[in-house]
Amino acid sequence: MEYKGVLVFIEQRNKEVQKVSLELLGKGRELADKLGVDLTAAVLGYDIENISDELIHYGADKVVIVDDKRLKYYITEPYTKALKKVIDNEMPEIVLIGATSIGRDIGPRVSARIHTGLTADCTSLDIDEENKNLLMTRPAFGGNIMATIVCPEHRPQMATVRPGVMQKIQKDINRVGNIEFFDVNLSDNDVNVEILEIVKEEKKKINIEDAKVLISGGRGIGNKENISILKELSNELKGEVSGSRAVVDEGWIKKDRQVGQTGKTVRPDLYFACGISGAIQHIAGMEDSEFIVAINKNKEAPIFEVADLGIVGDLKKVIPALVEEIRVS
Ligand code: FAD
Repeated sequence: MEYKGVLVFIEQRNKEVQKVSLELLGKGRELADKLGVDLTAAVLGYDIENISDELIHYGADKVVIVDDKRLKYYITEPYTKALKKVIDNEMPEIVLIGATSIGRDIGPRVSARIHTGLTADCTSLDIDEENKNLLMTRPAFGGNIMATIVCPEHRPQMATVRPGVMQKIQKDINRVGNIEFFDVNLSDNDVNVEILEIVKEEKKKINIEDAKVLISGGRGIGNKENISILKELSNELKGEVSGSRAVVDEGWIKKDRQVGQTGKTVRPDLYFACGISGAIQHIAGMEDSEFIVAINKNKEAPIFEVADLGIVGDLKKVIPALVEEIRVS
């Protein structure tokens, strides 16, 4: 039997499909159409049948459900075993997984067990028209070059893909597809971890990938206290505060607010870069924002090259003046 089709590993939490999986269905749809093959969504969990329609509405031709109480929460070993069995059974030529903490855990394990390669953290995927190989592109050498990687010998071709980079397709409630249950014969021996308690993070902030407006601060904000300047602007614009790696390393904001190559890829309607120089690793995470405003006291700062609007000045003066202007208008 030949390897055929595109398969997306669907991440769900509490029966809620994660945004990255819908983005991958969008990309998977495009790749499947180029190859003239089917797109399969593989979803693992417990009591999850109800989410299969949504996966079809977002582009899947077929949904493979592995429903087992041992898969209620993500645990490395049973999930790895189950996904490997789904892939062995489906034999897709391409497998896409989100480059999330779960995807980064399960992706390499599954690829090793099925003896194929994995290109991690891709930011772009396409099909080579000539030989139908998957072209997997990702930043390399600290983001200084973009490397396009192919896996010509082995199948399936596997990639983990950065959240926020691909676009989900328009939901179509009239789309139809097949739903199949697949039994992977898990036993209690496959579960080597016992979850005693799940403690949810208390804050209920919007993920920076979902924010329409981001006020991002860099080392130029000077100190932790000055985050309040960014917060004032974000409150006025109903946005969220994010930052460069420099401010995360300083401990001024949390890691989940970092924009860039080793942080999050964001695409808000409005992105403020305040005291951020514009290193390539930062730009990689925000250059697709709809409108970029840069505030920097150095007029030569590279951030101005990607900005739609540049303000040369001290952010400690510019931002309060801007906030004042918004309040009176
Ligand atoms: P700086 O480069 O120090 O820039 C500070 C800027 O503030 C300057 O341009 C200065 O002119 C301006 N400034 C100073 N005072 C003021 C003021 N009062 N008003 C206005 N402007 C002022 N970086 C990321 O951001 N995200 C990543 O994901 C990331 N991943 C990386 C991965 C690798 C493998 C490597 C090697 C690096 C990575 N980096 C990342 C780090 C990146 O190379 C830069 O070091 C970092 O982005 C710099 O942060 P910054 O712009 O805040 O600080």
